[in-house]
Amino acid sequence: MKFISHQVIYTSKLSSEQKALLDNALSPKYGYEVGLEFESLPYGEGSLSKSIDEETMILHHDKHHKKYFDNMTAILDENPELKKKYSLIELLRNLDEIPKNSREKFKNNAGGHFNHEFYWNLMSPKPQVEPKGDLKEMIDKQFGSFSKFKEEFVQTALDLFGSGWVWLCFDNSGKLRLGPFANQNNPHIEKCGIPLVGCDVWEHAYYLKYKNDREAYVNAWFDVVDWAFPEKILGEIK
Ligand code: MN
Repeated sequence: MKFISHQVIYTSKLSSEQKALLDNALSPKYGYEVGLEFESLPYGEGSLSKSIDEETMILHHDKHHKKYFDNMTAILDENPELKKKYSLIELLRNLDEIPKNSREKFKNNAGGHFNHEFYWNLMSPKPQVEPKGDLKEMIDKQFGSFSKFKEEFVQTALDLFGSGWVWLCFDNSGKLRLGPFANQNNPHIEKCGIPLVGCDVWEHAYYLKYKNDREAYVNAWFDVVDWAFPEKILGEIK
């Protein structure tokens, strides 16, 4: 995950070609980019265990996320011109550029790669547990208060039938929007805004510890969400 406009943060794993691509392709309107490489978790696997147990973190990152990443990479390897021309967010927002026979597979797996990289970076062992500043003001104005926002977020997760994500985004009209997204869809794929906060509500994200209790998982997940992260994104794009 790389923030871009004020200060570009690259990982050492990026090749100079990838760095040049990001420099050329990015505009501040998206605020950040997710690279086309598979990153380690930004903290220890057990360090979120008050909310998410170590075994779930390991399986989720090393198996589920890795599989999405590998499937995405296989399609990009078959179409090397795409990697040269576009960043990941640009590809997600322009799926027509992907050959038709791999488009759906690319959407699901590249969406999966983006979403998981986002989810890992959104969480922290030492989170800022509530929003501040502009984001707090927007949440208070649109949802009434942070606790009302949280209630609505949890209810959205409970109402989402099957597998998917709940995303809070900065939408195309400059407001916050909260919504359920099926499968690995996200606000870039739907072109409805810029993602700020995303919760994975696929059962693989919580089943070992919480079994069928999605509500308990989402409530506990809030305890490890670092609101400094969406605040930083908002600061880049506003
Ligand atoms: Mn997942």
